[in-house]
Amino acid sequence: MSVKGNEPRILKPKVNPRNGFLYVSLQRDDRSNTRAVHVLVALAFLGPRPPGLQVRHGPGGKLNNAPSNLRYDTGISGLEHHMAARTECDNGHPFTEDNLMWRTDRGKRYRKCRTCHYDAQARYQAKVKKKESSLATASGRTPRRGP
Ligand SMILES: [Zn+2]
Repeated sequence: MSVKGNEPRILKPKVNPRNGFLYVSLQRDDRSNTRAVHVLVALAFLGPRPPGLQVRHGPGGKLNNAPSNLRYDTGISGLEHHMAARTECDNGHPFTEDNLMWRTDRGKRYRKCRTCHYDAQARYQAKVKKKESSLATASGRTPRRGP
């Protein structure tokens, strides 16, 4: 690659140890700008990145930046993608902004229905209360009366 106004410089791609992607340093005059190779290749061969999508590597792996190994996709994969496409939970509660909770399990992000979550909590609380009152009965004390 060449740089306008200056002698051509060979860009040496370096692997970023934090994310495993290849980066090149673009130099012009005395400024340098570090860019991810896959982002530049995607821009050149796939066109501008649509909003909300990321450059994803295919089966060739993170260091294979051939255009055929790159695609624009959401940052989530497989099952997560399936979940993200759903508009309601198993119990039919709508997946709206304020009914959703994001959870992370072993590095994977997934959405959880807030209504179901609170229902489950309420059921658990009720179970604990029931257990407490049956224990109280068993020990000869007056069972607590519900409202
Ligand atoms: Zn639900």
